Amino acid sequence: DPGLYIVATPIGNLGDLSPRAADVLSRADVVAVEDSRVTAGLLRHIGAKRPMVPYHDHNAEEVRPGLIARMGREAVALVSDAGTPLISDPGYKLVRDARAAGHMVVTIPGPCAAIAALTLAGLPTDRFLFLGFLPSKEKARADAIAEVAAVRATLIIYESGPRLATCLAALATGLGDREAAVTREITKRFEEAVTGTLSSLAGRYAEAPPKGEIVIVVAPPGEAPPPDPADADAALAEALTRLP
Ligand code: SAM
Repeated sequence: DPGLYIVATPIGNLGDLSPRAADVLSRADVVAVEDSRVTAGLLRHIGAKRPMVPYHDHNAEEVRPGLIARMGREAVALVSDAGTPLISDPGYKLVRDARAAGHMVVTIPGPCAAIAALTLAGLPTDRFLFLGFLPSKEKARADAIAEVAAVRATLIIYESGPRLATCLAALATGLGDREAAVTREITKRFEEAVTGTLSSLAGRYAEAPPKGEIVIVVAPPGEAPPPDPADADAALAEALTRLP
C-alpha cells in the first residue's frame, strides 16, 4: 500500500533484521537511505534490488517534497545506516510532512542501540532520558550536562571512541561520580559492557581509547537523604501559620 514505512535495521548483526522489515524492504517502490552503499549491502543480504534515494542531513530539504509526493501512490521505506530511523538519525520531518499530507505512516520497529545498551547496563530502567550525542565542544557539553544533572532518570548517551574518556570525565564533573556502564559493539563479535563509576571508567579509557561504537549509560542521582522529622515539624508549623 502507498505510504511511509519506517524500517529499523540491524546495528551489527544481520540476524536482527526482522522478517517483517525484510518483507517491507523487498516490496518498497523506493527506499530512502542515509548511505546507498550501506543499504545496498542489506538489500543484497535479503536478495532484493530496490531503487534507493539518498536522504540525509545535507539534502533532506531538497529531497523531502519529492518523497512526500511519491507516498501518495507508492510505498516509500525509510532506513538509516543502522538501527531505528529518527533516533539520532534523520526522519522526523519526513514523518511530520507525511502526516500533514494525509499519507499512511507505518513503523516496523527493531534494533536501537539506546534501548539495547539500557538492557545491558544493569541500571534502573523505569525512567530514562536519551540524550543522543552530547556537543563536542567543552563548554557546550558542560552546559548540556548541567541541564540534566537534577533529572531523576537513567541517562543514555551516544559517543565515539576517541572522545569517550573526556566525555566520561565531563559527566563525572557535572553529575557527580555516579555508577555507569560503557557498552560497545552491541550485537557484534566484541560486544561488551564495562561498569564502574564515571571517574574510574574515565581513567580506564583515557589509557586505552576503545574502538567501535559506544553507548554510555549513567545511573540516576543517588537517593535524597531522608527528610529530618524536625524539619517536617517546622515546615508544617510554618505552613499552618499561612492558612486562612
Ligand atoms: N539510529 C541508530 C539507533 O537506532 O541506535 C543510532 C544512529 S547514531 C548516528 C550512531 C550511534 O549509535 C553510534 O555512534 C553509537 O553511539 C550508537 N550505536 C550504533 N550501533 C551501535 C552498536 N552496535 N553498539 C554500540 N553503539 C552503537
